Amino acid sequence: MLSYWEKKYFVNYDLIVIGGGIVGLSTAIQYKIRFPEAKVLVLERGIFPSGASSRNAGFACFGSLTEILDDLDHMSEPEVLQLVEKRYRGLLSIRDFFGDDSLGYLPTGGLELLTEKEMHALAFLDKINLLLYPVFSSQVFEQIKDIRPFGFSEKVKAIIKNKFEGELDSGKFLLSLWGKCQELKITILTGAQATKIDIAAKRVFIQDTAGDGFIGFHSGKIAICTNAFTNLLLPGLDIQPGRGLVMVTKPISKEIPLTGTFHYDKGYVYFRKVEDRILLGGGRNIDFEGEKTLSMEVNPKIKDYLLGILHNIIMPDTAIEIDLEWTGIMAFGKNKKPIVEMVGKNVGVAVRLGGMGVAIGWQIAEELVNMLAEV
Ligand SMILES: Cc1cc2nc3c(=O)[nH]c(=O)nc-3n(C[C@H](O)[C@H](O)[C@H](O)COP(=O)(O)OP(=O)(O)OC[C@H]3O[C@@H](n4cnc5c(N)ncnc54)[C@H](O)[C@@H]3O)c2cc1C
Repeated sequence: MLSYWEKKYFVNYDLIVIGGGIVGLSTAIQYKIRFPEAKVLVLERGIFPSGASSRNAGFACFGSLTEILDDLDHMSEPEVLQLVEKRYRGLLSIRDFFGDDSLGYLPTGGLELLTEKEMHALAFLDKINLLLYPVFSSQVFEQIKDIRPFGFSEKVKAIIKNKFEGELDSGKFLLSLWGKCQELKITILTGAQATKIDIAAKRVFIQDTAGDGFIGFHSGKIAICTNAFTNLLLPGLDIQPGRGLVMVTKPISKEIPLTGTFHYDKGYVYFRKVEDRILLGGGRNIDFEGEKTLSMEVNPKIKDYLLGILHNIIMPDTAIEIDLEWTGIMAFGKNKKPIVEMVGKNVGVAVRLGGMGVAIGWQIAEELVNMLAEV
């Protein structure tokens, strides 16, 4: 039961975006910039964005040496180059739009640890640098000569540096997106889960927890940016959820000699210094099947694996305790390409961002806005 005022002002829009993560907010912002008169609404089911965007590790990355080599086992060289370019250009575009200070961006570089089992990757370093040369006009990967200052255990045999990577503050990135939405007068409703979408009628329904039923919104166009959760609303897309674990240690009293974003094991494990703590995450490859879930629980097998890396490889001689742990849900599919397509005349999706949404989210949103603008 809606009031006259609610019906007149609150439920009709030119664009409704479902999902308030990086992609949803970026879509709303870019649409509104393109169509300043449009009434734009973002519906987010959580109190904060509650998928991956507020739970990630903030790596501004585009693929480590072993990750790119792994990609080449499944994709052609031009496809891999295109993927890397998209990620790198994506990072440049958010830095350009928001500015490094707003994002908490630091150009610290990426570093990959090679243990005995990854040492074969060194033989491909020149080949990968040559492959990536058209995008960077420079050598991307180089082997660090003296690895002792990092203080890793003897299991680490070599370290590869990537000078084009950086890190950002994931909270600041979301606050920048929110701030821009506010500046542009985009309405964001949180705690508003879309439970049903009627594509033909261009209607989105949410349960009214304070009322007695559902509220039906109407919109000229609809953007679905619900990533791993999309099949709950719009079944049938090739989307597999993939949970990721992140832990942050308690403050460490001695100096942490880790400047940069660190990768290990084809990018599946990652860590970096955050103030006087270490942020460590990943390990999904230890239990791929167990992590194909939308549930936010911690997988003990993966936690033990990551703790083993922390205590035995990263800082072997230091007593470290974990302060915080959380999980987030990513979306994967048969290949690493996001799905950006129209699913109805005025309804589009931009989903399946994998583990690189920080880098490509803004650009994927731009692709969706281009499609929505054409109808
Ligand atoms: C642990 C972890 C670490 C990561 N680390 C990195 C990293 O270092 N660098 C990097 O580039 N990427 C990283 N990623 C990946 C990156 O965070 C994601 O690719 C990106 O956040 C995806 O953004 P999105 O907006 O598509 O999805 P999401 O952030 O998942 O946003 C989708 C939103 O839709 C909402 N929603 C879902 N269903 C509904 C509904 N029915 N109604 C209303 N709202 C709904 C959800 O609550 C969610 O907020 C990481 C991800 C995880 C989980």
